[in-house]
Amino acid sequence: MRKKNFKAESKRLLDLMINSIYTNKDIFLREIISNASDAVDKLHYISLTDESVREKSQELGIFITVDKEARTLTVSDNGIGMNEKELEENLGTIAKSGSLAFKKELAEGDKTAAADIIGQFGVGFYSAFMVASKVTVVTRKYDSDKALKWTSEGCDGYTVEECEKPTVGTDIIMEIKEDTEDDKFSQYLETYNLTSLIRQYSDYIRYPIKMEIEKTQNVSPEGEEPKYEKVREVETLNSMVPIWQRPKSEVSDEECAEYYKSKFMDFNDPQLTIRVNADGLVSYKAMLFIPSKVPYGYFTKEFEKGLQLYSSGVLIMDRCEQLLPDHFRFVKGVVDTDDLSLNISRELLQNDRQLKVIASNIEKKIKSELTKMMNNEPEKYADFWRNFGIQIKYGVVSDYGFHKDVVLDLVVFPSSESDKLTTLKDYVARMKADQKYIYYASGDSVEKIASLPQTELCRDKGYEMLYLTDDVDEFVISGIGKFQDKEFKAVDAEDSGLLTDDEKKAADEVKEANKELCDFVKTAVGDGIVSCVVSDKLKSKPVFLSTTGPVTLEMEKYFAMMPGDEQKPIAEKVLELNPNHPAFEALKNAFENDKEKAEKIAKVLHNSARLIAGLPVSDAVEYCDIICEFLK
Ligand code: ADP
Repeated sequence: MRKKNFKAESKRLLDLMINSIYTNKDIFLREIISNASDAVDKLHYISLTDESVREKSQELGIFITVDKEARTLTVSDNGIGMNEKELEENLGTIAKSGSLAFKKELAEGDKTAAADIIGQFGVGFYSAFMVASKVTVVTRKYDSDKALKWTSEGCDGYTVEECEKPTVGTDIIMEIKEDTEDDKFSQYLETYNLTSLIRQYSDYIRYPIKMEIEKTQNVSPEGEEPKYEKVREVETLNSMVPIWQRPKSEVSDEECAEYYKSKFMDFNDPQLTIRVNADGLVSYKAMLFIPSKVPYGYFTKEFEKGLQLYSSGVLIMDRCEQLLPDHFRFVKGVVDTDDLSLNISRELLQNDRQLKVIASNIEKKIKSELTKMMNNEPEKYADFWRNFGIQIKYGVVSDYGFHKDVVLDLVVFPSSESDKLTTLKDYVARMKADQKYIYYASGDSVEKIASLPQTELCRDKGYEMLYLTDDVDEFVISGIGKFQDKEFKAVDAEDSGLLTDDEKKAADEVKEANKELCDFVKTAVGDGIVSCVVSDKLKSKPVFLSTTGPVTLEMEKYFAMMPGDEQKPIAEKVLELNPNHPAFEALKNAFENDKEKAEKIAKVLHNSARLIAGLPVSDAVEYCDIICEFLK
């Protein structure tokens, strides 16, 4: 029999598993049991429409056997089973979806980082190697007479051969490792320990998990002297009611978190668990989770949104997209309704009225829970926002603003007012009596924006500013358009409305008086700017760059980061000079007496403005030469 090699990426993963970088080895059991339960689910689903399968199937379930002598722990199921091709595909390679990304991460990251992401891929089966030195899989597919045996002792590879198996389904036989100083692997051969692990991690599994348990029992007839003997009895260890079907009051937060982690491949507790028990137009139960960390690969094309859809307890779709709008695509969970027909096709599902009602209810529910979190636990909301705020913001602009009304209430920004995030509603409520616009300023970080020259005037007037730190923020602002009839204005906009008529008039006079100087600066600087003006927005700082036209500086930076070699949109920049700053005085002096020097000062001021804006200097060597010359 020829030994086959694992695919490269599986081998790396196995290596990690065998060397046990993950400390909680207990989880291997829930992974193996989950797989067994899925296999049973699949057969159950087939049996609903295929009579021949229904006739043949026995009570569906999972059986645990321990052989202490042989040191084996076996998890058997009478589910769908695997044929040769599936064995190869499923156990010879990491589940395809994550493998590429996983490989990349492994190549780049360190081992601990890899450990952290293991749970986010379909790699459950391999976790058996954390506790087993050898794993044998004996399996027979439900529609086949042929059984197969897959064996592996780890990284070396695996073998597949034909074998005998009278019933359909799969046995996973794990040869438990010998104890070491650090790890008492023998615990996985102890009935008591296994029982409690199953109750802890797999209680909600919908099929019975059975095990033969040794008990001491009184075997004497009634009335006679009691005589105790050890007897072996098969017991069902799990309660089998799906967790979402159990009353809220009976399910602890820990249980929900455990369920989430085992079902949705996350190592962290969910940030928020939402339970719905709806009895109305359509009745359904749902259990929804918001992850506490951004799932691996969330921002890639491969990420698929959706909720698990059950109908009367039978899984009919693993990822039902229609149940989640894009702006809430980070939500995971299950929906169970009695109102859907079981053999409904995907196409019909798409237009199913009941499903649409459920989806719309779920959207409302998620929104209301997030609103609650925003109002009652702002710090928790800030964590949420850091993870998924961007998704909500996309919701404002996507589909031509169709979802704006739903998501806008959830949008928050940092602001100059406090270190907390603010909603637009709260901002407007705080607006000064004479304040006309909602002001904002953009930059890489709150700290950087706060020190930008162009924010000085607005701060001086006592108006609050929203700080836009995300690439998409300015697009979002323009997507919002107006909020409660208030327009948005960049603090450095030409018509920012920050000056009184008198102030404006005085500023215009200064502008007019320095026109010649400004034209000179424009010529000296060249193509980097469209014009130079004397600014009415600066207080203590010498310069800044404003823009005219639709493209802002932040947009320019955003476009510059996009892949592609074509010419990217560039902001039309205006160099604004502070007429009350000593640097301006120096420029003016030089302009009158030493044009060559004036040209150099103009270049230094322009490049300083670029640096403040977070842009590179236009000619670094020339800039440096001039500075050094001035230092002499
Ligand atoms: P995941 O379950 O996340 O897809 P696993 O590595 O745990 O990843 O399992 C890989 C695949 O192997 C499963 O998707 C399933 O198709 C198959 N498999 C595992 N265990 C069983 C089983 N007991 N019965 C049938 N198929 C199984």
